[in-house]
Amino acid sequence: MTLCDTCDNTSCWDQFLLFIKGRISATAFGNWLAPIKTLEISESEITLEIPNIFVKEYLLSNHKEELCAFLPVTGQGEPALTFIVSRPSKPKTSSLKAVTPEVKKEFPSHHIKLNEGYTFNHFIDGTNQFVKSAAMGVANRPGKSYNPLFIHGDVGLGKTHLLHSIGHHVSQMHKKLRVQCITTEAFINDLVDHLKNKSVERMKRFYRKEVDVLLFDDIQFLQNRRNFEEEFENTIETFINQNKQIVITSDKPPKDLKLSSRMIARMEWGLVARIEPPDLETRVAILQHKAQQKSLSLSNDLAFHIAEQIHQNVRQLEGAVNRLSAHSRLLDVKVSEELVNHTLKEILRYTPKTKISIDQILSEVAKTFHVAVEDLKGSRRTKDIAIPRQVAMYLASRLMQGTLQQMSEAFQKAHSTVLHAIKNIEKKMGEDRMLKEQIKLAEQQILYRS
Ligand code: ADP
Ligand code: MG
Repeated sequence: MTLCDTCDNTSCWDQFLLFIKGRISATAFGNWLAPIKTLEISESEITLEIPNIFVKEYLLSNHKEELCAFLPVTGQGEPALTFIVSRPSKPKTSSLKAVTPEVKKEFPSHHIKLNEGYTFNHFIDGTNQFVKSAAMGVANRPGKSYNPLFIHGDVGLGKTHLLHSIGHHVSQMHKKLRVQCITTEAFINDLVDHLKNKSVERMKRFYRKEVDVLLFDDIQFLQNRRNFEEEFENTIETFINQNKQIVITSDKPPKDLKLSSRMIARMEWGLVARIEPPDLETRVAILQHKAQQKSLSLSNDLAFHIAEQIHQNVRQLEGAVNRLSAHSRLLDVKVSEELVNHTLKEILRYTPKTKISIDQILSEVAKTFHVAVEDLKGSRRTKDIAIPRQVAMYLASRLMQGTLQQMSEAFQKAHSTVLHAIKNIEKKMGEDRMLKEQIKLAEQQILYRS
């Protein structure tokens, strides 16, 4: 039995669905995601059949990051998806009826169920001790410490995990307090339903009287939704005025959100905490924790090996553990270096490359090798400069999306020189452990800061 790429992709889509299911309302899931069919799955692309074009718009405007994290991506960092709109089936009055009862059933509130695994116990702090402490502070004394608590950072770094941890903790320790966890999308759906039903007052009353702690996930999706922003702003204000706790997550800090200045000021009022990509030790600890949860035996060496390759996204670390666990169970084998390398190749092939500039690369390489950026750009050939210069070219080829032509322009060197530099560094890395470590360090710094 060999490892099967196609099977992996099938589970990619399933994993994506499973992930999304936990974070949007059952109604939204039933309306938008459940009707999607997978038509064709290849290593580099997935073809989906959708009932109408709005489903495509919905997916790409609300879940693009998650799609990229779980599915194959194109060279431009877009999810590699082809959409085919299914032919309309014969108009049946019954199809309309089928949707309505579910919408009714969920009405009036689309709150999100807390993910059982997202607790403080399962959140490894390391690099993010400060953010975790702030979240625990808020969970211990809701409405009495920082209000609002605003957690921001890149995708896959644990914002939702911390938000749900607060929800669990409050529900256990303050049994009388009612927790409402909601995403922007769910909030907007809720509001739309209430508008349709002419019951917006009921919704306002609900937030005023029946919620004590509001956990609001992914506020960035409120940008450019002017009609809904005002309602949300009123909700925040009511909450703060009543000393009720509100926690907000976002992919960027308040000041960078395209929202009204009043809203930004409100969000900056309490504590703004940034969640950082975990450092190497923390990544190893997370891997081991996740492996333990899955009863997967993973040696320290292999955990380090994986953590060295996956820097940016804890969701990907988790994806690695999930894949390793599935493969080792299916094939009934222990986790070997070969299996790890295969899994890493799969995961890293689909990782969108972030936009990294030559200047960033030059600056980090210069720092790591203690030389001046100007020397790297120049043409002096002494060894202490020639090697770092070649390292910069090697890293540019690994981390940037440019062609050889663009690289040779950026470094002002002939194609053949750039190619030679890349090959030379690849060779030297196999021979010189110290150099390899330095290059990895520079690469990590570039990725961290980009
Ligand atoms: P975000 O909301 O920032 O995009 P999530 O909270 O969804 O990220 O986290 C992605 C995945 O990574 C989740 O499954 C979460 O459990 C896991 N994760 C993130 N950070 C940590 C951490 N420090 N310890 C353990 N698991 C983590
Ligand atoms: Mg999230």
